Amino acid sequence: MSASAALLETHDLTRDFRGFTAVSKVNLSVAEGTVHALVGPNGAGKTTLFNLLTGFLRPTSGQILFDGRDISGLPPEKIAHLGVARSFQITSLFDQLSLREHLELALASPTGLTTRFWQSVKRFGRFRDRSMELLDRVGLADRASVPAGALAYGQKRALELAIAMALDPKLLLLDEPTAGMGIEDVDRTIELVKRIAAGRTVVFVDHNMHVVGSLADRVTVLQAGQILAEGPYDEVRADPRVVTAYLGE
Ligand code: ADP
Repeated sequence: MSASAALLETHDLTRDFRGFTAVSKVNLSVAEGTVHALVGPNGAGKTTLFNLLTGFLRPTSGQILFDGRDISGLPPEKIAHLGVARSFQITSLFDQLSLREHLELALASPTGLTTRFWQSVKRFGRFRDRSMELLDRVGLADRASVPAGALAYGQKRALELAIAMALDPKLLLLDEPTAGMGIEDVDRTIELVKRIAAGRTVVFVDHNMHVVGSLADRVTVLQAGQILAEGPYDEVRADPRVVTAYLGE
């Protein structure tokens, strides 16, 4: 058992899609203040699990406990309010809005990036300082007035991280934070995630084992919807079942 209490736990968490079980009796435990990686071949159920944890999908059966509270089946807004944030996908950025405006929107929108709150952002302008702080944390303060559409790919991903941090979440879920990046951006992102993960609980999915090994305190390997292995990176990487799952028989 881990010395610190679990912030997130699932009990026999299961999700079926018309008879096909994408996540099957998963028992996950994430200790408070740790960084936890979720890995596994394509189709293993990682995205489905993230969607269950954030309320975008309802479990078929099983439970999700967050901070001691049963959040199974709660809507995404409610789960976000309780302190679970997920990194936004690039498709949710607005090309014409500046970086600072993105952060102002994120701070004004309790459940996600939407221009529904734009009028109140404009009217009060009260999120400016906090927006600049967040941009500074991800190294984008000098680009605050630049439209998001003008950013390079790695910078867009950094902006997503700043947006996910806007609600100061207890649990930060990162969906492939280094996907599609070149080696320099990968290393920059590792340092960035380390910085924002300090004192926070993070669960991330990534296919890059260098990233997993650099960031994760613990690793859970999923295969065909089930947990195949769980433990510290070195232990999991050496597990023959994991090697077989990745390389085939
Ligand atoms: P991963 O993220 O690990 O690649 P997914 O969670 O996306 O895996 O998918 C797990 C399995 O569930 C896959 O076989 C996928 O085809 C299936 N699946 C995911 N979403 C749906 C859906 N909405 N309807 C039917 N099958 C789905």
